[in-house]
Amino acid sequence: MLEDMLDYTQHLRERPVWQPIPSAIRDHFREPLPEKGTDLAILHQQFLHEILPYTVGNAHPGFMGWVQGGGTPVGMIADMLAAGLNANVGGRDQIPIAVERQILHWMRELFQFPETANGLFVTGTSIANFIAVVIARTRYSGTAVRDHGIAQQGTRLLAYASAGAHGCISKAMDLAGFGTAALRLIPMTADFQIDLQQLQQTLQADKNAGFHPFLIIGSAGTVDVGAIDDLNSLATIAETEKCWFHIDGAYGALGMLSAGIAPRLAGIERASSIAFDFHKWGQVPYDAGYILVRDGTDQLESFSSPAHYLKRETRGMAAGSPWPCDLGPDLSRGFRALKTWFTIATFGTEKLGNIILHTCELAQYLATCVVREAGLELLAPVSLNIVCFRYIGVSPAANRSVDVMNELNNNIVIRLQEAGLVAPSSTMINNQFAIRAAIVNHRTTRVDIDNLVQSSLRIGHELMASGSSV
Ligand SMILES: *Cc1c(COP(=O)(O)O)cnc(C)c1O
Repeated sequence: MLEDMLDYTQHLRERPVWQPIPSAIRDHFREPLPEKGTDLAILHQQFLHEILPYTVGNAHPGFMGWVQGGGTPVGMIADMLAAGLNANVGGRDQIPIAVERQILHWMRELFQFPETANGLFVTGTSIANFIAVVIARTRYSGTAVRDHGIAQQGTRLLAYASAGAHGCISKAMDLAGFGTAALRLIPMTADFQIDLQQLQQTLQADKNAGFHPFLIIGSAGTVDVGAIDDLNSLATIAETEKCWFHIDGAYGALGMLSAGIAPRLAGIERASSIAFDFHKWGQVPYDAGYILVRDGTDQLESFSSPAHYLKRETRGMAAGSPWPCDLGPDLSRGFRALKTWFTIATFGTEKLGNIILHTCELAQYLATCVVREAGLELLAPVSLNIVCFRYIGVSPAANRSVDVMNELNNNIVIRLQEAGLVAPSSTMINNQFAIRAAIVNHRTTRVDIDNLVQSSLRIGHELMASGSSV
């Protein structure tokens, strides 16, 4: 099995990024619960023929869809070791917790956070953002809110983020009981950053109306276009308003690893908390999200809850309090820190930073190609590693309705994905359908960028010529 997976990663480029799943194969995963076991060798063959070829392909160099990392063989083997240990890193006195704290120390150093900072591995930034909302709530309302809920303050508490903020922030507000309407989405500037003037006006109007702003969320790398909010100004506004300042840095925060990108994240060191993923730009295999909190006491006070069966000691296996389970919702949790530790220790920050910078350079290269091609149009400035563009064809797109062009570009994306050479995803930019390439994977090269440009043009021309946009 190990040989197979090493071969797989070595020969990724020879495979399609993605391919449609034959219905016969899908049917093989609709079997009844087996009473008797099957020979492992048979299941291994089934894995090779029916599972391995039909993933979404984010490890493939041609994968540019959504914002997903490529993983590495180092991370893969480390995850095998973690599974072999079967460590439950919820608590107790064990070295896996020291490994997780090692990552905490590294992240404190990277983000210039104080000694008081604490943090936690979680599935991903969605949950990390949710944890931040809960901590901000407890910090604002006091720990009594944990007993009595937010009902007393009702709908008076408000949070703020840009209209470009990731949808999981809205979901976090929902899950935390505030409801999505308690998140004010502030319009963006032409550079897709949060409009600071509008933010301040909204804050003032809300306070005048009797609301209590408690949380301001900055984006360090928006999901649509990779824009970075003015984090320093947001930090200052949050200070003035006595709000928790959280940063969604899902992929962008690790830009701190590159000296070329770090200055653009200035102000990140002033955050109350940062959510980010090692599984995106960090190239750690899924899943490895992280929440870093400036004052560990806030995190502890938001999540620790005593229980007889989790009694702490100063000696024996139950020593070492506080435990990770005191810092978030999970009790049982896997050893995500190990693959992250192996990845950072094996490659070092310089190499990881260079990979991050390289993906941004590829994005600039793609933007240059798009601007040079008359048949393509760039739809947003390229800030980091995300490029949004569309096919406009040889005749001016102005001759065709927005709807027709949107449908055409939608079909280009689907055709690209089905062809399996290079796979972008899509988004909407100012009501225009965008082919969206997020370059995250360390395996991606200029060859893949050229493939994307040429294939988009070719498919666009074909669809135009056939007179259908389908
Ligand atoms: C990917 C992403 C998220 C969600 O993170 P998950 O790890 O998928 O839960 C949130 N915000 C931004 C900006 C992202 O790119």
